[in-house]
Amino acid sequence: MSDDGLFVRDRLYIGGEWVLPHSGRVIQSIDPATETVWAHVAEADEADIDAAVKAARDALSGPWSRMDPTKRGAILYKLAQLITANARQLAEIESRDNGKPVRDTLGEMQRAADWLTFFAGAADKVNGAQIPFKTDMLAYTRREPVGVVGAILPWNSPILLCCWKLGPALAAGNTMVIKPAEQTPASILEIARLAEEAGVPPGVVNVCPGYGKIAGQALASHPGVNKISFTGHHGTAIRIMKSAADNLKRCTFECGGKSPYIVFADADIDRALSVAVHSAFRSTGQSCSLASRVFVERPVYEKFAAAIAERAARIRVGAPSDRRTHIGPHTSAEQLAKTQSYIQLGIESGARLMTGGGRPEGLDVGYYVQPTVFSDVDPSTRLAREEVFGPVLAVMPFDSEEEVVGLANSTDYGLVGGLFTSDLSRAHRVAARIECGLVSVNTFRPVHWMLPYGGYKLSGIGRENSMQVMDQFTETKTIVVDLSTGVPEDPFAN
Ligand code: NAD
Repeated sequence: MSDDGLFVRDRLYIGGEWVLPHSGRVIQSIDPATETVWAHVAEADEADIDAAVKAARDALSGPWSRMDPTKRGAILYKLAQLITANARQLAEIESRDNGKPVRDTLGEMQRAADWLTFFAGAADKVNGAQIPFKTDMLAYTRREPVGVVGAILPWNSPILLCCWKLGPALAAGNTMVIKPAEQTPASILEIARLAEEAGVPPGVVNVCPGYGKIAGQALASHPGVNKISFTGHHGTAIRIMKSAADNLKRCTFECGGKSPYIVFADADIDRALSVAVHSAFRSTGQSCSLASRVFVERPVYEKFAAAIAERAARIRVGAPSDRRTHIGPHTSAEQLAKTQSYIQLGIESGARLMTGGGRPEGLDVGYYVQPTVFSDVDPSTRLAREEVFGPVLAVMPFDSEEEVVGLANSTDYGLVGGLFTSDLSRAHRVAARIECGLVSVNTFRPVHWMLPYGGYKLSGIGRENSMQVMDQFTETKTIVVDLSTGVPEDPFAN
């Protein structure tokens, strides 16, 4: 803390050193609950990114590459333990930066540690294979690190989503340059500090907070980077893909969603209702996997829409530090304005405003908005098709299985989907037809380190989590050894 009470982190973490940024500039991080600057965090520019990439490249041939994978796993496990031991402090920093209630960010710290624990165990289980393609040839594959991984993070769950990338990247023996989002620059530098304490060698993890158009762009286009692992908006992913094209960087993208939540009339309605409220409004709607479109079969539609609106109105919006708070403010003024614009679009399109739409009573300062439910939303409107990234739910009726599958697939996104029914055959039939990377039945969004996660269409490229992600942090090398004796015939001899 500085004398004036600001949280100050004015150094970047590059090559195992805490260095002042080349420009000497800091990002002024705003506390979304008070709309005031709470932290000054070092801002990286192109020169800092260049230095970080060089450090990461050097580290590729350092002790990290020679370390037994089991030892790498042990270091990751130690980092997981340190996150758990420092969870309260990390959760408070994250909460000041992005406005999530501390009880939510505390839960995310535990999950971040769980993720790292899983990937600590994965470090010595990434095997190649022996391929019996000829009797006198020994053919086998090696799984080698991709090289320098550029991780570009969003602001909604910085530490957790950082660990989704850091866990498998380090387990596979890569080195990293991590760029946190400019809205939430503070917390990942704490992860760098803990990584250092855990025994991660210098240069293996480099952390450079900075703006997307400067530091992010420099990382995405840097010829010394082999892979970009990105989470954020699909428009940014498209720009990154173009920047990354010059040296054919491997790219994986986790982008947004407009997740369908389908309730058939034969479902356990109380269960569907309870899951829907949390799935639609948690994290102030700032989640890629939010149940933002609820389709309800006509016989139960009116009752369901009224009940979800009644429950949404009871959600306690408040200060992130207050233990009773269910959801906090938006992370930024821009995100609040975006949510408000979609509320306006909903009203103008003739959708029925069931609850919310304005600022919660008594919260005059901070980027707050009421949980909002629209019913009778026209499926062709922007509110029904585009990602809001706020607590705004569109409820729509349907009359047949065929119709709802068409509606569910009628967006450019395809991240997460869910359906509630007691008909077993229908559950499997519809799940197979939903164009999403993760579909759940009678539950929603069971995101877990053991389950592949990622999107169809504009929701992304590639999958995170599970052992499957290790494919995306390794290159496969095929080695063939000829075991035969004698001199092979020379076809050019005569
Ligand atoms: P964003 O795309 O604006 O920013 C994400 C990151 O990209 C930030 O670090 C930003 O600085 C950086 N960036 C911006 N422009 C860049 C450029 N030209 N080159 C390189 N980097 C650049 O996204 P956001 O607003 O931080 O996050 C919200 C979006 O992220 C939503 O669409 C949400 O659905 C998505 N998201 C997806 C997942 C997932 O797992 N699928 C998780 C969380 C958020």
